[in-house]
Amino acid sequence: MKVTILGCGPSGGVPLIGCECPVCTSSNPKNNRTRVSILIETHGKRLLVDTPPDLRQQCLRHHIKTVDAILYTHAHADHTHGIDDARSFNYHANKLIPAYGTADTLEEIRARFAYVFKNPIPQYGWFRPALEPREIRAGESFDAEGVRVIPFDQGHGAHGTTLGFRVGDMAYTTDAKSLPDASFDVLKGIKLWIVDCLSNRPMPTHSHLEQTLEWIARVRPERAILTHMGHELEYATLNAQLPTGVEAAFDGMVVMF
Ligand SMILES: [Zn+2]
Ligand SMILES: [Zn+2]
Ligand SMILES: [Zn+2]
Repeated sequence: MKVTILGCGPSGGVPLIGCECPVCTSSNPKNNRTRVSILIETHGKRLLVDTPPDLRQQCLRHHIKTVDAILYTHAHADHTHGIDDARSFNYHANKLIPAYGTADTLEEIRARFAYVFKNPIPQYGWFRPALEPREIRAGESFDAEGVRVIPFDQGHGAHGTTLGFRVGDMAYTTDAKSLPDASFDVLKGIKLWIVDCLSNRPMPTHSHLEQTLEWIARVRPERAILTHMGHELEYATLNAQLPTGVEAAFDGMVVMF
């Protein structure tokens, strides 16, 4: 399995527009973070998690022409507003692309981008994204174009819930302030965990460093990678203070296992 961290930034990205803090003005490219997304490649299939506003740039950077399916964690703007660029996936695959999400997530996407779920008009070509909505539920595994995926519940503070995904021995948790015991059960035995860590101080809707490290100590993956990191977290400083087996993500990081 190959996992590419396409983006590991917070909702506004790093640098934040107009911010002159040391991280936003850092010359280390690892402090430049686009909005969160990962690409999972396994069994000859490519699964994209979310369509963030930076999707175009991420696809160009990694030569991604198409994907077999899109998995949505939730419908927040930083996870969905690059949806129009999914049109290129249709173009290169010459077919509809399945989009998996909860009923609520699919409904929110439909409310904002109704055209993505409309039937294509063959004589117009792939002039807009053409996604096929597929409803999934936390705790019920599903088959994403031949790849078994287990979605699990995550609390996103006052925003409600999001989905985490387990695929084989890896799991992805973003936009999570809390995790129910049932989700810890799903995470049992994973080797790789890419996990939310917005800040080094408590936040209302996301996990922060201390709590994320507690989660990692409970799940005990071989390797944990922090993501959705805000501008309070400087790449080198953070990495230097993390325990063995835990590291900060950076855009373009590739994990093979
Ligand atoms: Zn987010
Ligand atoms: Zn800043
Ligand atoms: Zn969110």
